[in-house]
Amino acid sequence: MSKNNEPIIIVGAGVGGLTLALALRKLGKNVRVLEQADKIQPIGYGIQLGPNAVRAFGSLGLAEQLSARSTIIDRINIRDAVDDSEVLAIETGARVRQRFGNPYTVVHRAHLHELLLEACSRGGVAISTGSAFLSVDADDFGVVAKTKDGETVEGAALVGADGLHSSVRANLFPERRALPSGYAAYRTLLDLHDPTIPPELKFAEVTLWAGPAFHVICYPLGENILNLVVVVRLDEAGDPDSLTNPEIARARGIAHPTARWLLERVSIERRWAICDIEPMRKWGRGRVILIGDAAHATLQTLAQGAGMAVEDSVSLASQIGQADGNIVQAFDAFNAERVVRTARVQLESRALWEVIHCEGIQAEVRGHQFRDYEGGQALECLAWLWGYSGQEKATRRFVDDPAVRRSGSRQIGVAGA
Ligand SMILES: Cc1cc2nc3c(=O)[nH]c(=O)nc-3n(C[C@H](O)[C@H](O)[C@H](O)COP(=O)(O)OP(=O)(O)OC[C@H]3O[C@@H](n4cnc5c(N)ncnc54)[C@H](O)[C@@H]3O)c2cc1C
Repeated sequence: MSKNNEPIIIVGAGVGGLTLALALRKLGKNVRVLEQADKIQPIGYGIQLGPNAVRAFGSLGLAEQLSARSTIIDRINIRDAVDDSEVLAIETGARVRQRFGNPYTVVHRAHLHELLLEACSRGGVAISTGSAFLSVDADDFGVVAKTKDGETVEGAALVGADGLHSSVRANLFPERRALPSGYAAYRTLLDLHDPTIPPELKFAEVTLWAGPAFHVICYPLGENILNLVVVVRLDEAGDPDSLTNPEIARARGIAHPTARWLLERVSIERRWAICDIEPMRKWGRGRVILIGDAAHATLQTLAQGAGMAVEDSVSLASQIGQADGNIVQAFDAFNAERVVRTARVQLESRALWEVIHCEGIQAEVRGHQFRDYEGGQALECLAWLWGYSGQEKATRRFVDDPAVRRSGSRQIGVAGA
């Protein structure tokens, strides 16, 4: 078995894995990333990054590169998909920057990956593509990972950053599997210069139309692209692989014209099943630990899956840096620091999922409830999420922050996905 000066093996070159690799290289640590894909090619759609995620990237010296590739969002609108009435509007431009020190932004995933890969390459991170993790053996001194091709890789420790359907998680906790929500997402990029595009879609705003058993989200990525996500509850009686999509047809039938315009343009050629996992208290064993979706995959309601992965990476690197070579202690400290915050994101995202997709009298009640979040109140309700700056102990912050205590446990959503 290997010793502490051997590389820390990171499984997965997604947002979490690359950010961790970079953060560890900045501390002078030796890392090796194993990625199953032959070529690192993130799906080509948008991603929202709250001020907490922007802050975490900034702590790694990536603020300028991220800002050059992203669009600052002025407002998040949640509207009723059937009558287009406003459910909630959150001013996110200057107010968010002033309150949380960083903006609310959106970025093309390919651009985010590009900047992470460039930074990893500058930092000398070793990434092996076409290297699918299969299993890991660990003892008190190190780990040996095996890939599906039969290669063995020795390291000081192993971090599973391999996403929702994590093989590292399956090795450690085989009973913890992804839980399908019964919903699926369809994504499309539209041309913002399309002359038929409704003018209200051209602003630097995230808009979510919440409808019975479906929602539609869109936001611009730069000046040319409109990112569109449609999420529908799958019809249990229908053929799960059918592309005729009775669910989208149903949503089109009841949606307000602007939401319908978007529903008519979404591509149904590929869809992503929406899943999360049950919150887990322990994310690892000894020299093996999970981060990101592998540890705490969440529904997209708060638009924070990647944000949590990036926060994890910054926190884990910092714990490793402070642990004076005691990697097991660093993993335990990281797990303890992050577990409540990420579980809160998972559980609030589930609760809000129901609120977003309700109908009838529930939808009317929702309209009244959200009216309470006028003005700055919405930002204070989100302070636990967007105001997090890491390393100052998540649990203490959301108990002690007077603004958050005032708002109690009321939930408030962001236009997730
Ligand atoms: C419709 C939709 C919208 C979303 N919108 C947002 C949003 O607006 N904001 C936000 O913050 N989050 C959003 N998310 C969530 C976000 O995409 C994920 O939470 C985030 O990508 C998780 O990062 P990760 O690094 O943990 O995993 P991933 O980014 O999934 O990376 C995992 C990596 O591991 C690799 N891998 C998997 N198995 C193996 C193996 N056996 N061996 C080697 N490599 C392996 C994969 O190829 C991949 O490169 C959204 C998700 C969906 C589905």
